[in-house]
Amino acid sequence: MTTALYTHPASLAHVTPEGHPEQIARIRAIEAALADMDLDRRDAPMAADSIVLRCHPQSHVDTLRNSVPEDDRLVQMDPDTWMSKGSVEAAWRAAGAAVAAVDAVMAGDAANAFVATRPPGHHAETEKTMGFCFLGNVAIAAKHALEAHGLSRVAVVDFDVHHGNGTQDLLWDEPRVRFVSSHQMPLWPGSGERSESGAHGQITNIPLPTASDGAHMRAVYEAEVFPMLMDYAPELLIISAGFDAHRDDPLAGLNWTTKDFRWLTERLCDVADATCSGRVVSCLEGGYDLDALAASVATHVSTLKERGQ
Ligand SMILES: [Zn+2]
Repeated sequence: MTTALYTHPASLAHVTPEGHPEQIARIRAIEAALADMDLDRRDAPMAADSIVLRCHPQSHVDTLRNSVPEDDRLVQMDPDTWMSKGSVEAAWRAAGAAVAAVDAVMAGDAANAFVATRPPGHHAETEKTMGFCFLGNVAIAAKHALEAHGLSRVAVVDFDVHHGNGTQDLLWDEPRVRFVSSHQMPLWPGSGERSESGAHGQITNIPLPTASDGAHMRAVYEAEVFPMLMDYAPELLIISAGFDAHRDDPLAGLNWTTKDFRWLTERLCDVADATCSGRVVSCLEGGYDLDALAASVATHVSTLKERGQ
């Protein structure tokens, strides 16, 4: 079997202001890094509204659609999130790709999948955009796995350097999803304390100290995350793959290296191999130093490919 790679030109039509870290160049850097890799390349489809509405109310969908500018102006949705005329299609394709990746992996049509789209999703809350995000792509994918594929245990692991506050909000009351977020603390958005554990104790937040490195991360994941996931035995593992814990990233202060992303990907694949026939769906979140992002995504996807064969 193969590793599916979901992309779409719509990701290049979501425009942010000059100098904004969440920029079109991120996707171009990733596409260049993956250009020579033998992957099952697929177009990201639009998510059906019925699928989006499992996580967001109609009012949020309406707000997004009603905010689309007709010309080349940019609309500021919140302090960090901007909308251009191509943003809504890009957001719907980012969510749709995550859903399609779940379908492909559950059908055995791909061993695992990586979704290389933007905007990212893990900061979008039920009824608000936040932190460059419009729709909760990973939470939408997890709900789809439950409702369309009849799963009862889905794990979502978020290793982006920022807390996955949106995913936490969307899955707060969902007992069938185990959500784990590791993130630098203190750091924006400020949530993600250990005491935030979900309505059913199904959420685990792991704050990592500023300036901590990959050795610290590895020790924490070995001691806490992997045993918990093995015990949980998910039927599907979804990853919120942000690469901004890299030491070169300009938005945060952890000191992971490209090798740490390889190690973490391998160990997460170990968990998936042991519990769910290797079914992994990984979705791009952050990562803002273009060289570090490209190298980290390349090692992440090449690891998925090696493990999916
Ligand atoms: Zn981030």
